[in-house]
Amino acid sequence: MSDGSELDISHIRLGDRPLIVCDVDDVVLQFIDPSQLYLKSLGHEFLPRSFRLHGNIVSLADGLALEDQHVSRLILEFFAAQESWQTPIDPVVSTLERLSGDADILFLTAMPPQFSAHRRRLLDRIGLGFPLLASEQPKGPIVHALHGGRDLPVVFIDDMARNLHSVKEHVADCLLIHLVPNSPVHRFAPTAGADIARARDWLHAAELIDQHLAAHAISRANPAA
Ligand SMILES: [Mg+2]
Repeated sequence: MSDGSELDISHIRLGDRPLIVCDVDDVVLQFIDPSQLYLKSLGHEFLPRSFRLHGNIVSLADGLALEDQHVSRLILEFFAAQESWQTPIDPVVSTLERLSGDADILFLTAMPPQFSAHRRRLLDRIGLGFPLLASEQPKGPIVHALHGGRDLPVVFIDDMARNLHSVKEHVADCLLIHLVPNSPVHRFAPTAGADIARARDWLHAAELIDQHLAAHAISRANPAA
């Protein structure tokens, strides 16, 4: 890659089969609940008053909001400590294991890349050995670079509307799945476009993926249909 700020994807090898790109925080690994426990262990509390951490983390001692710089530092410290706090969202492990029989699975996490090794160890430990890319760049161009113009199904799953919209803009015919945890803060999350599927949970997401892969297999077998 010519620009050092771009993500290096040259080590990712895709098979001649569908691709499922999956966000990690609050989709594969619990984020909001463990981060709340982490903050409380430090004498702070997250108040879900809007869909952001900055301005909403307060000191348990005096109820005052922490400075933005302090919040930014806590987020980085949580990523460094993630192996002690984050757990999988059931039943993601068995669901992705089954789907990996038909498709390549790839994790695309919007996390500072310096914590990739921590996340890699955590995912490996819980049985999710699929490739991982960590980048804070928009996700659409990354999925486009991975999938290109392959005539194969591609699926993207995320809890953030802006990531789904970015992929929609850059990747044609991608099945977009909005998988949102049932948490107080996610009630404030921006909604995704009407043409983006919303999944209740991983079982529902898997149903949508199965349907998408089956429809593509039928249209490939009957190109005139
Ligand atoms: Mg997420």
